[in-house]
Amino acid sequence: MDGPTSYDEDMTDCLFCRIVEGEIPATVVADTDDVLAFRDITPKAPTHVLVIPKAHYANAAELAAADPALAGRLIDVAGTIATSEGVAEDGYRLMFNTGRHGGQEVFHVHLHLLGGTPLGPMLA
Ligand code: ADP
Repeated sequence: MDGPTSYDEDMTDCLFCRIVEGEIPATVVADTDDVLAFRDITPKAPTHVLVIPKAHYANAAELAAADPALAGRLIDVAGTIATSEGVAEDGYRLMFNTGRHGGQEVFHVHLHLLGGTPLGPMLA
């Protein structure tokens, strides 16, 4: 099993690793042994939370290949937050952007939790 990318490889300049380390402030909504969730700094919906593994993986596929249980825990934490944010009943969107064409801008895997308004179809 591949472990997380080592600190020496490319975590030194990773924004979300720095949030995990407490070097950059964030509004944290969930904090477990290996998962952190915080509010998106530029929310695209009334509820917009990012759920990340504390360990560095570049994207969802890399995370799922290396540690599928941890990938599952991201989804579990997102569901718990959806309930605590009051968006679970009406529904919400979970999204992993991957790579350039997927619109990924921060290369530390993050699960977007979006809700609080009708989001419409993704592919119109
Ligand atoms: P996109 O910007 O296309 O959504 P990503 O899927 O990589 O790209 O998402 C990165 C997310 O991180 C963006 O929604 C952005 O607003 C958010 N973000 C960037 N910097 C911070 C920060 N310091 N704290 C919280 N969220 C941040």
